[in-house]
Amino acid sequence: MWLQSQQSCGEMRGRDRYSSRSLLFLAQEEKGWTVAVMFRAVPQAFRNLHGSSIPCSARKFSKRADKNCIVGDKVAVVTGSTKGIGFAIARRLAQDGAHVVISSRKQQNVDQAVATLQGEGLSVTGTVCHVGKAEDRDRLVAKALEHSGGVDFLVCVAGVNPLVGSTLGASEQIWDKVLDVNVKSPALLLGQLLPHMEKRRGSSVVLVSSVVAYMPIPKLGVYNTSKTALLGLCKSLAVELAPKGIRVNCLVPGLIKTDFSQVEKTMPHLLPDMNEIYGLQRFGEPEECAGIVSFLCSPDASYITGENIMVAGFSSKL
Ligand code: NAP
Repeated sequence: MWLQSQQSCGEMRGRDRYSSRSLLFLAQEEKGWTVAVMFRAVPQAFRNLHGSSIPCSARKFSKRADKNCIVGDKVAVVTGSTKGIGFAIARRLAQDGAHVVISSRKQQNVDQAVATLQGEGLSVTGTVCHVGKAEDRDRLVAKALEHSGGVDFLVCVAGVNPLVGSTLGASEQIWDKVLDVNVKSPALLLGQLLPHMEKRRGSSVVLVSSVVAYMPIPKLGVYNTSKTALLGLCKSLAVELAPKGIRVNCLVPGLIKTDFSQVEKTMPHLLPDMNEIYGLQRFGEPEECAGIVSFLCSPDASYITGENIMVAGFSSKL
């Protein structure tokens, strides 16, 4: 069996964490074996992405939060987190020990996501927040502060693409909606959370861009532009917040199997060609975007800021 038994994460904390080569450990719980994936040796983790196994898919079966682990006892706010990539990130941060505040536009989705994760024994709360609405952002900030009066991590996942068509034919309303939700809202929400983040140590922000930021897809021009703007926002915020010790990085997903990419009929026709030529020749799973976010929030990433990390089955970066 390719899994190795390892010491617990709590034991690892007392050792030189950077020397550990282990990615996996098995923990025997009362109810059976639980497989948890640890992104301890990041270079090795990236090498392993070329293998046929998907280590992080094992992680989703872990139902235990580990308060001693990576982001233990921290508070994370994740927007757009009731489905897809955001939900996978919320679950992973909670599994890694954080209290996670879940949010999206629809109460029903929030209730369902919170119930699912609480049912797994994870520490989560939730509230409705359409990130483009100021009053909803206020409510999200208030909800986040309920846990311990501060916030450590902000992960901005919520994003929209209401148009498949000509960029120059897009109405002002479309431009406003896409830029409001995808670009302005992360900056405005972070502005509201900043006073509550800067008093904590090791705060971190992760923005969710897209591979279309590097490789624009025809007919998605407004969306492409918003996702490229997020890379710029990441760079600017990283520089601006570095003196406060707050790190800002960008997750750049490729084609990930979610409702969003199903709706986006154009993308599956164009991106898989790139993936077939250069990449792992399959769509990604939401869970495959989650471990890297937990890592970027963790002390293991304490010297990484202003970085964009592709999770796309290939890389268009040098
Ligand atoms: P998804 O499965 O459709 O989930 C979207 C989530 O965001 C849902 O929880 C939705 O819940 C929420 N949401 C939508 N609009 C919102 C708003 N205005 N305010 C707050 N929450 C909102 O989508 P996904 O594929 O996970 O995409 C998430 C992010 O990844 C987006 O920023 C997208 O651009 C980016 N991305 C996705 C892919 C891909 O292939 N899937 C690739 C690259 C980048 P409610 O309906 O309840 O609001």
